[in-house]
Amino acid sequence: MNSIDNYIKFSLSIKDKNVVFFDYEYQLIKSRQAKVYRAKVKVTCNRCPQCGFDHLSHNGHYKSRVLYPAANASEPVYLELHKERLVCKDCGTSVMATTELVDKYCHISKATRQKMFMQLQDDRTQCSVARDNSVSPSTVCRYLDHYDDLFRRNYSYLPEHLAMDEFRGVGGKFHFICINGAGDHTIQQILPDRFKQTIIDYFDQFHINTRMRVKTVTLDLNSYYQDIVRIVFPNAKIVVDRFHISAMMTRAFNQSRVQLMKTYNKQTKEYRTLKFAWKLYLKHFDDLDVKQLYYDRHLRKQLTQQERVQLGLNVDEKLANTYNAMQGVMLCLKNHDKAGLVHYLEHNDQLTPQMKATLKTFKKNLGIILNASESKYSNGPIEGINRMIKQIQRTAFGFRNYHHLVSRIKLQQMRTKPNKKTELEVA
Ligand SMILES: [Zn+2]
Repeated sequence: MNSIDNYIKFSLSIKDKNVVFFDYEYQLIKSRQAKVYRAKVKVTCNRCPQCGFDHLSHNGHYKSRVLYPAANASEPVYLELHKERLVCKDCGTSVMATTELVDKYCHISKATRQKMFMQLQDDRTQCSVARDNSVSPSTVCRYLDHYDDLFRRNYSYLPEHLAMDEFRGVGGKFHFICINGAGDHTIQQILPDRFKQTIIDYFDQFHINTRMRVKTVTLDLNSYYQDIVRIVFPNAKIVVDRFHISAMMTRAFNQSRVQLMKTYNKQTKEYRTLKFAWKLYLKHFDDLDVKQLYYDRHLRKQLTQQERVQLGLNVDEKLANTYNAMQGVMLCLKNHDKAGLVHYLEHNDQLTPQMKATLKTFKKNLGIILNASESKYSNGPIEGINRMIKQIQRTAFGFRNYHHLVSRIKLQQMRTKPNKKTELEVA
């Protein structure tokens, strides 16, 4: 056995038996000091693939230099492969040795490519991946292009629970995103725009029986996807995200509070009572502290959180009613209380105009609001994914190419799910 060969193969983790190392040295390649390992690659077959006879004779070597992953990116590693070439005496076909280290016509080893894909799953720029692997950024981009079709192309399956939303992406345009609302929250699809026709066309590719299997679809309240869902998923229940209901209520309350506050002079006690500690109003009433006294420096006295809220509500009766409605609806959503919710939506006489308008919107969408109070699904996971997408775009300083964005999203989602099998080498 050749000891150089053994040692180099061990340190480079190469197991291919056709490759035999015989030499190594430092060389200046592309004006950088590089480690070069020389190896011979032998032909495995002893018969001509064209005619089947074994009259093969030696016909020189083909030298190719292949990039290999290096421990130290400032010192790239190259394999100089001397591929054996044979020629058939009978038919003239020439046979060249191949190895599993590198693809045909390719000068970047499979191991380097795999390493690049691992690194593209991290939150880092493509330029930094390119630098780390001694390749050009366009090479990284080109490999990313192979991963265009990372999303499910299986048109005979849809998850039972879907969640839909949109995010701002390439060129400030909105892209439609749809994920599995339950389970592993895999991204089902990202579409280049959010037009009704695009979305319907996408889902129309699924057979009607597949679409009938979808049980719930979670949406934002203000989105127009409701019509689409009714068209494409005949059996699906539309669920509005509970967070958006709460957000709309608290926004209405805050607007009412500020409007009332502005009617008072800035020096008055009422003004200060309404202006400060606004966060306490938005808390669940039961979560407010009733035991612990704290010093409120705006009112200059000691009191508990609940007393503080009560003080603000004593200023105006309408505001107090609005507060009760907001708290009531939030509590009903938390406890999945359908009847209570209907009660609060029906009795809206003594409220501020802002809250009245909000409740009116809810009443218009009563069916889906009630679904929200029952359902345990929400748009939380999809908002989380949107946050991840935002981060990807920030790290890259924005994308120009929609497909690159989508590939990066998919690759990074692989990393966030370590227990799922990551299929790196598809191409
Ligand atoms: Zn032959």
